[in-house]
Amino acid sequence: MSLATAPSSSADTQIRAVSVELDTVVKEYPGHRALDGVSLDVQSGEFVALLGPSGCGKTTALRAIAGLEGIDGGQIRFDGEDVSRTPTNLRDVGMVFQSYSLFPHLTAQENVEFGLRMRRVPAAERRSRAAEALDMVGLGERGARYAHQLSGGQQQRVALARALVTRPRVLLLDEPLSALDAKVRVQLRDQIRSIQTELGITTLFVTHDQEEALAVADRVAVMRAGNIEQIGTPEELYGQPATAFVADFIGLSNQVPGTVLGGQVELLGTTLALLDPSVPTGPVLASVRPEDVLIGAPGTGSAAIVTGTSFLGSHRRTRVILEDGTELLIQHEAELKTAVGDAVGIRLRGTAVGIRLRGTAVAVRPA
Ligand code: ADP
Ligand code: MG
Repeated sequence: MSLATAPSSSADTQIRAVSVELDTVVKEYPGHRALDGVSLDVQSGEFVALLGPSGCGKTTALRAIAGLEGIDGGQIRFDGEDVSRTPTNLRDVGMVFQSYSLFPHLTAQENVEFGLRMRRVPAAERRSRAAEALDMVGLGERGARYAHQLSGGQQQRVALARALVTRPRVLLLDEPLSALDAKVRVQLRDQIRSIQTELGITTLFVTHDQEEALAVADRVAVMRAGNIEQIGTPEELYGQPATAFVADFIGLSNQVPGTVLGGQVELLGTTLALLDPSVPTGPVLASVRPEDVLIGAPGTGSAAIVTGTSFLGSHRRTRVILEDGTELLIQHEAELKTAVGDAVGIRLRGTAVGIRLRGTAVAVRPA
């Protein structure tokens, strides 16, 4: 082994995070455009989630960034440098997939060492770096185990150690938690986030689970049919969804019939100002969060009857039906008890944020 491949220890332990830019990236499969001009700027050290329904192009986007798929248009840049035609092994990315992808005939330690072996890192250094990576994911004691001796969550942590041990410039995670049960999923998602923060590595995390995306990411890009519909912080997406699709996909929402008049919209007796006052007068459907609907005594607001109620520990969800047949889901404090058949009054919180569903989607804010 030549000395040239031996690392110069201290400089080499640093993660060299890069910015990742997708510039109108197009990917065509026969008869199907999987990426339809996707543009996305991920800052160095940022954690961005790609969120969207099955088939919207999330995996294709990740594989294009990794160089596992060629692209048919646009450009992919790392720190401003075009890598669109750079082979995968020279892009310097680490990947974790949904399915456990450990080699069954290798121990956890050997699995983690694998990428370093490919890079011809000397044996002693390979061993210490792999042990360090296993420590980082909390599996320092489990290096001698084979995949079948590890739980699903532990196998994904080995896969994460294997992705990080080569000190990639970008970490790409494709639904790494989908196969795990709920409790392990939350634990591992928090662990991924804290390791990412500590290393400062630029990370793209693909998921179809909106709660997961909101919980871990600095910013979330909501994808639909090969495009990014909206990108923003979790708070922006939840509070100011740009389109009806985003409003429906992020969090629960009700569709409430209302009327636009003179730049305002009236919903359930509450008047909200339209952000875009040019919306034409007429009937609309607005999307309203369950926590922005208030339950009161009969006679306050619109009359409704309770059709269902569920206790969820810290809060309660109640379903009601209005006289015109509109059904609403309401989230409220657990102390306010409701029972099926109760007559109640329904109002909107004055600070509700709605979004017009028909025609051009327009966010509305309180009048
Ligand atoms: P997601 O990860 O969001 O579920 P994908 O990126 O895997 O979606 O797929 C996007 C679309 O491209 C889907 O309609 C899928 O059927 C199609 N697709 C993915 N891979 C191929 C392929 N190798 N050949 C043809 N179509 C593909
Ligand atoms: Mg996928």
